[in-house]
Parts: sequence; C-alpha cells; structure tokens
Amino acid sequence: MKNWTSPNRPPLRPVQVPEGIAAEDWESVVWQMQNRITTLEGLARWIEPSAAEARAIEDLARRFRFVITPYYASLMDAKDPECPIRRQVVPSALEGDDPSGLADPLDELAHSPVKNVIRVYPDRIAFCVNNECALYCRFCLRKRMVGETGWSMQKSELETALAWIAGTPEIRDVLLTGGDPLVFSDSRLEWLLERLRAIPHVEIVRLGTRLPVTLPYRITDSLCRMLERYHPIWVNTHFNHPGEITEPAAAACERLLRAGIPVGNQSVLMRGINDDPVVMQSLCEGLVRIRVRPYYCYQAQLLEGTGHFRVPIERGIEIFRGLRGRTSGFAIPQYVLDTPHGKVPLDHPYLHGREGDEMVMEAWDGAVWREPNPIDLT
Ligand code: SF4
Repeated sequence: MKNWTSPNRPPLRPVQVPEGIAAEDWESVVWQMQNRITTLEGLARWIEPSAAEARAIEDLARRFRFVITPYYASLMDAKDPECPIRRQVVPSALEGDDPSGLADPLDELAHSPVKNVIRVYPDRIAFCVNNECALYCRFCLRKRMVGETGWSMQKSELETALAWIAGTPEIRDVLLTGGDPLVFSDSRLEWLLERLRAIPHVEIVRLGTRLPVTLPYRITDSLCRMLERYHPIWVNTHFNHPGEITEPAAAACERLLRAGIPVGNQSVLMRGINDDPVVMQSLCEGLVRIRVRPYYCYQAQLLEGTGHFRVPIERGIEIFRGLRGRTSGFAIPQYVLDTPHGKVPLDHPYLHGREGDEMVMEAWDGAVWREPNPIDLT
C-alpha cells in the first residue's frame, strides 16, 4: 500500500449568486429549470468551452442529452476542461470512441416484469417513475432511457406498476428512481407515496435522487414536511467529488435529515473524477461532516460512451483498502460492481484463511493477525 497525504479539511464550498441574477431567481427551482444550459452558446456564458468540448457537443449532444443546471454550471472551473465537475456533464469526444460499451449492461430490460419496474432481488425493486433529471450526467447508467421520449410514464402506466407491486407480496422495499423522482411536483410525488403506503407489504420507500447535488434548492421545507408523512423514507443521493459538497447542498441534506430521513450517498468511481485516494478520502469525510453516510461506490459499468471513465477494479480495491484505518469505518463506502445478478462487493481479501486452529487475517496496517478459532461443530 502506497502512502498518501491526508486531504485538507476545507470548509463547505460557498456558492455565490452570479452577478446580474436576483437571489430569489437563483434559488428558484422554476428559474433554474427554465434557464438550463442546452447549447454551446449557453455553456459559453459559464465557462470557456475547449475546441474539443465544442466539437463533442456538436457531435454527441443528440446521442445523449446535454443539459446542465445553472447551479451546477457555477461549480465548474471555467478554464480547465479537466475539471472533475465539468467532465461529469459536458460531452467529451471520447464518448464516441468506446466500442465495448453496452446500452443496458445490467440487462434491466430482461428484469422488468412491467414497464420501468426492475426486479433483481426477491424483496425489492427499482421503480423508474420518470425519465427526467435536472441535468444529464455523461456516465449515466440509464442513458438509454433518461431524457428520451417513449420512456416517461403516463399515470395509467404508473397505475399498472402499482398494481403489480400490490399483487406481489414479497416486495417490501421500493426504490423510486428514474430519472429523478424529485423532478416530480410535490403533489405528484405525494400521490405516488400515498398509493405505495396503501400497500401493506411495502415496508420502506427509498428515493434515489441527485437533486441535492445538482439542484439543491429543490429540497424545500414543504417537500420535506410532505415526505415526513410517509415514513419510513430513506434517501440515497449521488455526490462524486468533494467540490460538489457546497453550502446549498449541505443545507438540502440537512433539511432531509431534520425530517428524519436518513441520507446515504452512492458514488461512481471514475477516472479523473475521484480515482485518487486523497480525493476519495476528502469526498467521504466531507459527506460524513454533513451527516451523509457514504453507502456504495460503484465500479463504472461497461456502458456505452463511458470507457474513458472506467478504472481497473484493482485500482478501486487499492483505493478502498488504503482508506481502511485512515478514516472512520462508517466513512468508507462499500466498493461494489453491479451485475445482472445484483451487487458484488469488491473487497480487498482481508481474510487469508484457516491455518490449523487459527484464522489468519490482515489488519488495516498490513499486520498479520492470527485469531484462535478451533473447529467446534457441536
Ligand atoms: S441524475 Fe442520475 S439518473 Fe439522472 S442523468 Fe445523472 S446519473 Fe442518470
């Protein structure tokens, strides 16, 4: 294990309201959604697009939607095309150069008993209730459907999925995802939650949302008061880089937490974004400081147009092995690969195996520990 310098512990990143925009507009979800960046000209108001980015927008924005909220754009380094915030949302020419990538690497379509319900495990489902997001991430696992017409769910289709859940008593855990379920209005989301809560075997509802990161002003007090009525609700959000942990993002998570909603984080390990132990430690510790639990870090999938983000699994194992002992255990997410058969933990092999009456294992600092462990099957 190589040593690395522990990260600085910066204060929360402030977000300044850009000059010429009224604070009430900036913090308005309607204003943010109406002023989203969808063109090169629009992007050029925030950053200096490189020639390569300009070409990629021209060539690739139609293959996967190019949309960025002004809030998220304000976090980008205007001059550096390698900025880890910028690379998550601005098209790259490398997207067109990925012959091995698949459209649906988790074979979700084959695991779908009704439209937009994905069932890999017996007791839980992912319910893709919409196909809209505030912005579109270039690495999105569901790029085959998010932002595309034909995937959005009509109310009658939501009813069909709800009827399937009601008729499948093994389902106790429903993850609302998409797209992003918090793009729904409060009233539409409440309608859905009411219907799910009326199904006795649905014990918990989870929301998978990136809005605390990409449009934190959506997490309003009134939304949280509504969610509170449908507990147990859990939220998993998606920070990938410490530069996304801003004052508004922290305030959004705080509002959810005050409503009694546990907030976890699922990130994706990506080259040039967070495949650096210092950056990963800084991300995980920054999340813990705002009381968001690092839950999973995903190995990037063999997904079309994302080969430039993929990191060898050995590198991921090395990063998370290195975090062990260097930071609090609950600050270390489980590093996993999602597969059509569910998640596979990609743990460093700490347990070396049995030697006589001892189990031999490796401690965080590399020391070998032998734990007496006589076989007694009585
Ligand atoms: S917010 Fe989530 S679902 Fe939406 S584009 Fe990004 S990764 Fe995909």
